Amino acid sequence: MTAKKGDSNWQFTVLGSGTSQGVPVIGCTCAVCQSNDPKDQRLRSSLYVQKGSTRLIVDAGPDFRQQLLNNQIADIDAVLITHEHQDHTAGIDDLRAINFMQKHAIPIYCTEPVEERLREQYSYIFKNSKYPGIPQIHFKRLDEAPLQIGEINIEPIQLMHWDLPVYGFRFGPLAYLTDANKLLETEWEKLQNLEVLILNALRKEKHHSHFNLEEALALADQLSVPQLYLTHISHQMGLHKEVEDTLKTDRKLAFDGLQLSLD
Ligand SMILES: [Zn+2]
Ligand SMILES: [Zn+2]
Ligand SMILES: [Zn+2]
Repeated sequence: MTAKKGDSNWQFTVLGSGTSQGVPVIGCTCAVCQSNDPKDQRLRSSLYVQKGSTRLIVDAGPDFRQQLLNNQIADIDAVLITHEHQDHTAGIDDLRAINFMQKHAIPIYCTEPVEERLREQYSYIFKNSKYPGIPQIHFKRLDEAPLQIGEINIEPIQLMHWDLPVYGFRFGPLAYLTDANKLLETEWEKLQNLEVLILNALRKEKHHSHFNLEEALALADQLSVPQLYLTHISHQMGLHKEVEDTLKTDRKLAFDGLQLSLD
């Protein structure tokens, strides 16, 4: 896909807006898990980013394959991994489909600890004798230094997910901060003059490793963010429509398939 003249510079798609178990939760009979509103059905959290001819995905969780199919995404140039939890990495085997088309290894940008974990988790990918058809990936280091991947410039943002360091990302006018309950003070200035913030908010109750609704709203206000979308949402947050009715119009819950075009 190439951008036509007059198109927005940046295209973002929320591929999944759900917490680690997704919504509905298997076996749950709560009102959210039983809801017929498509916005109450949340695959695991992931973001698609496109600028010009460069396409990235942030996190490849267990719903990766379905998310690419649902959004007619046929190809990506790189994967950024926020952290090593399974709901962000369990889809890496499905990168094979991209390898088959591209006929070369796909870069995965992650920190050293995340790379170590992925090498353990996907040991078959890194064996000397490779079984034909396994994914082809190569690791690229992610740290606090800004990155340029094709036409996309990225500012990594350091967060804490309880005691686990995690990266979020700023892509031009938008920042995507998932799986955290603390923003390091050094990162504050990197988040000035945003147009959109996509921020994790698990539920209304407090949680040891995620912002809750109140904390996420307060952070967005402190950053003077014009438009906020909350993500990584649990069924415990409540029905999409009911929660959104309690929020101001510039504070919303993300949903799967949400598209944002920004300059
Ligand atoms: Zn997560
Ligand atoms: Zn439920
Ligand atoms: Zn996590």
